[in-house]
Amino acid sequence: MEYPSKLIEDAVNEVSKLPGIGKKTALRLVLHLLKRDEEQTETLAQSLTAMRTKVKYCRKCHNLSDNDLCTICASNRRDQSIICVVEDTRDVLAIENTAQYKGLYHVLGGIISPVEGIGPSDLQIDSLINRLRGAEAEQVREIILAISPTMEGDTTAFYLQKKIKPFNLKISTIARGIPIGGDLEYADEVTLGRSIISRIAYD
Ligand SMILES: [Zn+2]
Repeated sequence: MEYPSKLIEDAVNEVSKLPGIGKKTALRLVLHLLKRDEEQTETLAQSLTAMRTKVKYCRKCHNLSDNDLCTICASNRRDQSIICVVEDTRDVLAIENTAQYKGLYHVLGGIISPVEGIGPSDLQIDSLINRLRGAEAEQVREIILAISPTMEGDTTAFYLQKKIKPFNLKISTIARGIPIGGDLEYADEVTLGRSIISRIAYD
């Protein structure tokens, strides 16, 4: 494609690096940004930069957070006796949207995947075990393994279960209202909410 401006071409190239956005869509977005008030585009650029530089991981559960502790870990209205273990922040959002769960989380940052070369040490598993040993040892009664029921998810859940077993906690998993091989993220809120309430013992 021939661009009338090198600056536009650069912007299109950058925007088209985003997932699901081709060159055509990128061009449409860039032209849209050009048409808007300069101020609006400036605000967009600033919010992206601020987000990228300031968002961090909660030091306790590894959820994304603006502060050292995320809003969930910092809240005194959450049930401190349950930790729900999930793959990533999107799962936290999906479960929070159901409004059916009031416990804490632990975000693994992925799942065990030999194909992709992701082993247990690449995930936040040691830090989960440290939570069970540390300050939270007295409070925690139950661990929910809310991990996608794919082959890799099952491998991860099995590994976690072995690690958690010595702590004599109740270990549960979300009921299979979630389609097998499906992502938590895509389960509808009602199904996901129901499967958290009617969670079953991990066996
Ligand atoms: Zn947290």
